[in-house]
Amino acid sequence: MSAKILSGDFAGHTPMMAQYLSIKAGHPNTLVFYRMGDFYEMFFGDAEKASRLLDITLTKRGQSNGVPIPMAGVPVVALEQHLAKLVKLGEAVAICEQIGDPATSKGPVERKVVRIITAGTITDQGLLPEKSDALLMALVPDKRLVGAAWLNLASGQLVLAEIAPGRLAHELERLRPAEIIVPDGSDAGLVPQMIARTVQNAWNFDPRAGERTLQEHFKAATLDGFGCAGLTLALGAAGALLKYAESTQGRSMSHVHSLSVETGDEYLVLDAVTRRNLEITETLRGSSAPAARGGPAPTLFATLDVCITSMGSRALGHWLHHPLRDRRIPQERQAAIGALTSGEKLFETPRRVLRDVSDIERIATRVALGSVRPRELSALRTSLKAAPSLGSSLPLGQDALLERLAADLAIPVACLDLLDTRLHPDPSARVQDGGVIAAGFDADLDELRGLTTNAGDFLVALEARERERTNIPNLRVEYNRVHGYYIEVTHSHTQKIPDDYRRRQTLKNAERYITPELKAFEDKALSAESKALAREKALYEELLEALRPHVAALQRVARAVAQIDALAALAERAWMLDWRAPVLDDTPGIEIKAGRHPVIAHQISDFVPNDCALNPARRLLLVTGPNMGGKSTYMRQTALITLLAYAGSFVPAEAARFGPVDRIFTRIGAADDLAQGRSTFMVEMTESAAILNSATKQSLVLMDEVGRGTSTFDGLALAWAIARRLIETNQSYTLFATHYFELTQLAAEYTEAVNLHLAAAEHDGGVIFLHEVRDGPASQSYGLQVAQLAGVPQAVIRAARKHLTDLEEQAVRVTRPQLDLFATGSASGSSAAPADGVSQPPEHPLIERLRAIKPDELTPRAALDALYALREEIDKHA
Ligand code: ADP
Ligand code: MG
Repeated sequence: MSAKILSGDFAGHTPMMAQYLSIKAGHPNTLVFYRMGDFYEMFFGDAEKASRLLDITLTKRGQSNGVPIPMAGVPVVALEQHLAKLVKLGEAVAICEQIGDPATSKGPVERKVVRIITAGTITDQGLLPEKSDALLMALVPDKRLVGAAWLNLASGQLVLAEIAPGRLAHELERLRPAEIIVPDGSDAGLVPQMIARTVQNAWNFDPRAGERTLQEHFKAATLDGFGCAGLTLALGAAGALLKYAESTQGRSMSHVHSLSVETGDEYLVLDAVTRRNLEITETLRGSSAPAARGGPAPTLFATLDVCITSMGSRALGHWLHHPLRDRRIPQERQAAIGALTSGEKLFETPRRVLRDVSDIERIATRVALGSVRPRELSALRTSLKAAPSLGSSLPLGQDALLERLAADLAIPVACLDLLDTRLHPDPSARVQDGGVIAAGFDADLDELRGLTTNAGDFLVALEARERERTNIPNLRVEYNRVHGYYIEVTHSHTQKIPDDYRRRQTLKNAERYITPELKAFEDKALSAESKALAREKALYEELLEALRPHVAALQRVARAVAQIDALAALAERAWMLDWRAPVLDDTPGIEIKAGRHPVIAHQISDFVPNDCALNPARRLLLVTGPNMGGKSTYMRQTALITLLAYAGSFVPAEAARFGPVDRIFTRIGAADDLAQGRSTFMVEMTESAAILNSATKQSLVLMDEVGRGTSTFDGLALAWAIARRLIETNQSYTLFATHYFELTQLAAEYTEAVNLHLAAAEHDGGVIFLHEVRDGPASQSYGLQVAQLAGVPQAVIRAARKHLTDLEEQAVRVTRPQLDLFATGSASGSSAAPADGVSQPPEHPLIERLRAIKPDELTPRAALDALYALREEIDKHA
């Protein structure tokens, strides 16, 4: 291809520019970093873009076809920081290296794109977020489903799923991919704005081709054993994904060893809103960028993440975002935490050992990709040596999970052996600096190194001989990097120097000389040095090749370390914060005794613990109480404790028991979602609709002040209807906080609905929040007292108090009948019958009239008459 282009389009260019343009032609949408000596240069449009994005100088270079070429460059040593910036901006960068030998090549050195860096395919230590994974994802939609595949390039795990379009947003919120590949022609709205989107040819997503790619990759005749039977779209996505990953890395994805399929019911579903509301890894105000994960913000993750290694932090983050429905795995984790905290702090020793363990997972990936650096290998060696003591530091013999993890720590001995014999005990950072291969491994290398190291003896001898010969007592033989070897003589002795001395350099009070003998030595030493470097480079490549078969074993060890670290962290937290093991069983319901909010309880000094009980006979808790009374905190702590229990952690409560839970929903009223351009109320209702459409008997639903986004009567009416729907139809475990006091009536109507309130006490005209959950509805809302507490001027408070009295009088006249009209009108069937012994307000006369009408027996004419009559009645009332 390039030959033809060279003779055609690029004819007017210098040979080097022609080479550049032919490479650029293969990467039209990617910034091409073209290696020239110590710089990566960009030209033309790339240069202009890069100078803008990276804030680097835009210069010009020569001319091509008579026009100066815009150029911008970054030093090779600063590559990583610039890549980090570009990747963050969603740019892809093709790294084009010199692969030919400049000494022997005619014309420009041969160059090739060796790797493409994109948001989802980075594996470099310096570019990856330490505590979260960067996933690469492929999506391919059809009318019914979206085929999805995602790959964690740094751990080699590939997962497939076919997702209902309505669930996609939640899955993206859960997985947070860094980059998504989609077929050309697909809807741009498929990929949320903050995720890098890469378009590939649609034929890359062909399901049958994808199946073949996977079969070849995993060397399996059929994929059914991986749970892939019945999948089509997802296979296409996976095929496209693997091909793309390989093309960016410039090598095969041999370290991708694990393939699994998610069917959508493994995990307790947390929809996108709930994940945000519960502040698992980010605060509600926090940025939504994945980089913010694990920041110091007061999140659930930040409270728990005392992991020693970043592998552990990543595992823990994953657990918190993936609570499991099947209780076996969380129970295993809880048992392990129990073993690590039984009687004494048994988690301490393993945590100490973990300090010697580096990020084996990511190092293993770079071994597979051939991009690992000497110091990373040295860290790997240290880590592997620590692994056995990590295993033996665990309280074994009583816990199945710890037992299994300890077994998984079995290190690949041959791999450690390779590192021990071949890698220098303290290697330099870069291969090109030399000093990365151990002494005694390669005779040639040792000899070449000997030439330079034995130089000392030679030089000492030479110096002695020359002093004698010249009779200059202070003559010295020395070396520096710039001038090489020389003999230095002070000016006072220069008349004594022999004829064979050639002057090399003149200093203020000395002259430096070289002799033929010293020159010959210098040539030999310098060539030995460069030969030694070349030899080391080759030996390092060999070492990488030899290590590659051990990648799978290293990944196994890495996974075990990550889990041990996460478990030990949870154990440490459980011990320090006095958390307890929850019980997970089959009996429906949620029971929490003296529960605390896992995050807030540690931010304030005297957090008040509260109980919570939900079960089929007590399904809807109506939570009332003053503003700032603790309603939201109480509800969220219930959700967080449930989440923690099913993630496998201990929980902040004296005791807790959970029956099966399939989803957690939260709806916090009146949150603005201006970024997405939807009105507050629209957001509220969209999310409420989602809950009403999908919550089940096993779902935990938090409704925090729904209806707040619209007028009082609309809001009240909707909140009322939503609550009834949750009781009657969804039958979910529901916590319903409301400022509509009228809703507390529901408890009279349904035995499953129970009133609770956050206690407060009046004190000196002000209010004291007790933060204590008590039975029954709140007696008043304390709005004015709260306002007073907040510093609203007394005159305003007095005026408000007066107006409130007026309103309350009116409300007795107006609101009551209206609400009752609404209540009776929307009740369906017998479940709406009032509970025994509860007195009902007298029925409105209009309802009596309506009741008398039998629509089935009316002629159209009579119906119309009845309607007119009713209308007249209302007009009379008004
Ligand atoms: P509400 O939703 O009723 O307006 P919040 O749940 O937002 O109230 O709580 C308001 C504040 O009260 C919290 O920020 C917290 O400082 C405090 N608070 C809440 N619950 C408790 C508790 N159980 N113990 C102590 N302080 C609490
Ligand atoms: Mg609140």
